[in-house]
Amino acid sequence: MSHEPMVLAERVSKSFGTNRVLRSISLKVDPGEVLCIVGPSGSGKSTFLRCINHLERVDAGRLSVEGQLVGYRQKGDRLYELRPIEAAHQRRDIGMVFQRFNLFPHLTALENIILAPTRVKRSPKTEATARAMELLARVGLASKANEYPAHLSGGQQQRVAIARALAMDPKLMLFDEPTSALDPELVGEVLDVMKELARTGMTMVVVTHEMGFAREVADSLVFMDGGIVVESGNPRDVLTNPQHERTKAFLSKVL
Ligand code: ADP
Ligand code: MG
Repeated sequence: MSHEPMVLAERVSKSFGTNRVLRSISLKVDPGEVLCIVGPSGSGKSTFLRCINHLERVDAGRLSVEGQLVGYRQKGDRLYELRPIEAAHQRRDIGMVFQRFNLFPHLTALENIILAPTRVKRSPKTEATARAMELLARVGLASKANEYPAHLSGGQQQRVAIARALAMDPKLMLFDEPTSALDPELVGEVLDVMKELARTGMTMVVVTHEMGFAREVADSLVFMDGGIVVESGNPRDVLTNPQHERTKAFLSKVL
């Protein structure tokens, strides 16, 4: 059992041109914890998730996943930046679910799920299929294995996307507003799958506007605005007793 934090950000900064999107972000997620990140649009939430997954490179500060500096390999005292193929390898252990269901439209639910395990991990197809069926059952979609995404509701597609991410046996799951594009009546079924995943001990970083979910499931909550962590702590404390004006103003709009 590793005692390293699953995610450790120390004064992480990132700019796009002159736009300083992340300004010295520091936070920690321990193994088995759920961190929810909330904040207004444009505050840098997606960029921060993308940095954890090394889809973006940080400009300054240190960002590590299980003690490994994201995007780098240490050899003796020296750091080497990973080549793209090595970075892809590092990313394999991190599952990501986006706002828009990114399923491949020409593949069935089952085919979507077994694609990465068979192609990337070279799992035998029978094994990958058995595991995919298990995962589909877990997200309540065993009967939809052979459906194409177009024949699934948004909530069902998002549950398949979660199953697809889990098929790579990630040690960390990142969710970027996974329910924001859903019709309200479909939000609950996706949040239920995420709650169940949290219950099994998965480490999760969840960008969301679902304050009920954050209150019930998160171990800690971070409020970001303008690229900084304005406030963080126990979700019940932050949500019921925010300390900063900006947090109060934001919460008064979403609660
Ligand atoms: P949030 O997810 O909180 O809405 P984002 O991380 O998506 O915020 O965006 C934060 C800021 O970074 C925005 O001003 C956005 O325009 C900018 N941004 C995000 N990605 C890029 C990019 N690839 N190139 C240039 N600017 C970007
Ligand atoms: Mg975003």
